[in-house]
Amino acid sequence: MNEFVQRAAELIAGAQHVVALTGAGISTASGIPDFRSPHTGLWARVDPMEVATIYAFRHRPADFYNWIRPLANTMRVAQPNEGHSALARLEAAGHLEMIITQNIDGLHQRAGSRNVVEIHGNMQSATCLHCYRVYPSKSFIDALINDGRVPICPECGGVLKPNAILFGEQLPVQALMAAKRAVSSCDLLLVAGSSLEVVPASDLPMLAISHQAKFILINREPTHLDHQGDVVIHDDIAQVLPEIVSAVLADRAEP
Ligand code: ZN
Repeated sequence: MNEFVQRAAELIAGAQHVVALTGAGISTASGIPDFRSPHTGLWARVDPMEVATIYAFRHRPADFYNWIRPLANTMRVAQPNEGHSALARLEAAGHLEMIITQNIDGLHQRAGSRNVVEIHGNMQSATCLHCYRVYPSKSFIDALINDGRVPICPECGGVLKPNAILFGEQLPVQALMAAKRAVSSCDLLLVAGSSLEVVPASDLPMLAISHQAKFILINREPTHLDHQGDVVIHDDIAQVLPEIVSAVLADRAEP
């Protein structure tokens, strides 16, 4: 085991209130590209500002759904990977209080994590823009993927918007407040797979650091907060995270 994995495991084992912050990098091993990254190919043919803003959605929902249709299909078939499972194990063992995620794919919950706060919303439910009724989105997403049908409210005929946050849309206040509360009182923040470029994910580490919480950062690429990390690992999350969690749980098992 390398020294960084060992050090990260020691910090987690020694902490009382661990919070994880995850981003697209934890789901790439499940085949899901970064929704917001300009490097994924999702934006290759379409300017995101033309389809994936709340303004564009309101005026041309069909364009949005046409664009997101392949991604919705990718998410439908994606399975949680070893990185998701590792965090679920850490929570089950009492070493992780909350996962704050930028992801909209629901894979943490499917891996067994229970306390998950989705600061960019999710694709599992949808809201009618006319009457504000909320629906589970599975049947609508299935119809979208299979037939290209724009999801419509069965009650009033209004267009349904997935509860994933679009560009220009307000973040979910409750989730954001829960995330900030948890980070304010944590003594260790574990960031996995976030480049920390998008607000509010970029602010949360500073909140943790400001009250001397330990800060572990695992990401494929360097981030602008690497210099603040107690442990910084640039590697494959689906491989490193299980190693760290196994080391935490092995330490715990020792007499
Ligand atoms: Zn409606």
